Amino acid sequence: MNPLVATGRNFQRAARILGLDSKLEKSLLIPFREIKVECTIPKDDGTLATYVGFRVQHDNSRGPMKGGIRYHPEVDPNEVGALAQLMTWKSAVANIPYGGAKGGIGCEPRDLSISELERLTRVFTQKIHDLIGIHRDVPAPDMGTNSQTMAWILDEYSKFHGHSPAVVTGKPIDLGGSLGREAATGLGATFATEALFAEFGKSISDMTFVIQGFGNVGSWAAKSIFERGGKVIAVSDITGAVKNSSGLDIPALLSHRERNLSMKDFPGGDSMNSDDLLFHECDVLIPCALGGVLTKENAADVRAKYIIEAANHPTDPDADEILSTKGVTILPDIYANAGGVTVSYFEWVQNIQGYMWEERLITSELKKYMINAFKDIKNMCKTHNCSLRMGAFTLGIDRVARAATLRGWE
Ligand code: GLU
Repeated sequence: MNPLVATGRNFQRAARILGLDSKLEKSLLIPFREIKVECTIPKDDGTLATYVGFRVQHDNSRGPMKGGIRYHPEVDPNEVGALAQLMTWKSAVANIPYGGAKGGIGCEPRDLSISELERLTRVFTQKIHDLIGIHRDVPAPDMGTNSQTMAWILDEYSKFHGHSPAVVTGKPIDLGGSLGREAATGLGATFATEALFAEFGKSISDMTFVIQGFGNVGSWAAKSIFERGGKVIAVSDITGAVKNSSGLDIPALLSHRERNLSMKDFPGGDSMNSDDLLFHECDVLIPCALGGVLTKENAADVRAKYIIEAANHPTDPDADEILSTKGVTILPDIYANAGGVTVSYFEWVQNIQGYMWEERLITSELKKYMINAFKDIKNMCKTHNCSLRMGAFTLGIDRVARAATLRGWE
């Protein structure tokens, strides 16, 4: 399903629940600004290569627009538009003073050398530098990008505007990055899971987990679950999948992957087919990779009781319905993976304050924000008698609609 259509369907359902005025609904749905740029770079072999870059700035009613930049072959305007919109609701659900944006370049970053990636990032920044800014739009890492990418954006932006560490988040610590930012999305998903289980008088150590994706988000989620005594019984990444019904030793798996650049031949588990991972028997399934993985074709085969959406839009609305009918509880993306943007906010605040916080403070603040957001979502669910997804969407949309209305349209 087209990601923009899927996101739009959730938005419209929530708008109906809220009884949103149709004119306001239209203005909240259409992005503030969409940017598309050509990025041509010389490759290392001297030939030219042209890529297309996007930045969709969805809404700024609650503050500067905020969201990651993704390098992936599937990046297109629909995907970036949907992700930008999700960032608006996500920032509002987390109750941080941001709007939403997202960017990306259609490329396979693994096929580019470090110097080609640097050139591509600098050209993209040259094309968008006038439209981003500390109080305008603040990029961050996403799939295929990392703290080094943010360092190049910061450096290129600073050539035009002077040294501006707060123009990006997810930077290296040496350039004003925040302690705890790298772990934030995965750890935030774990805090979200704890908040959900507390409702049922359960804890992470009572549960078995299957994790799809073992990149930044998946590996930190797995690590924090393992540290809390949760049994991670299967994990996959692009190199394959591994399972162990008595629980994988996550730190050992991480060092095996680091040494071998692959999960293959991990002695602490058996390899399995990655395609079967989503349907593996477990209590909790955590998709941490691409969007759109749960569809109407495969949703009936899911055997988990809970789904924690650490990825953005892993479940399309048809799959959502099938899973809800089966009694699966889903913690939606705009809440479950909000830990990343929340610590991005702490990073931005530290840069503006010119003062670095201790990691302890960041972790405890992150936990506080995740718990508060869960309470706010539950209140919406009670008021409107709706699912957690609709609770999160109505919460986010209501907050943005109120800010937009207060500003007015003159
Ligand atoms: N890319 C992350 C997300 O999808 C983080 C965004 C940010 O920190 O601005 O939430």
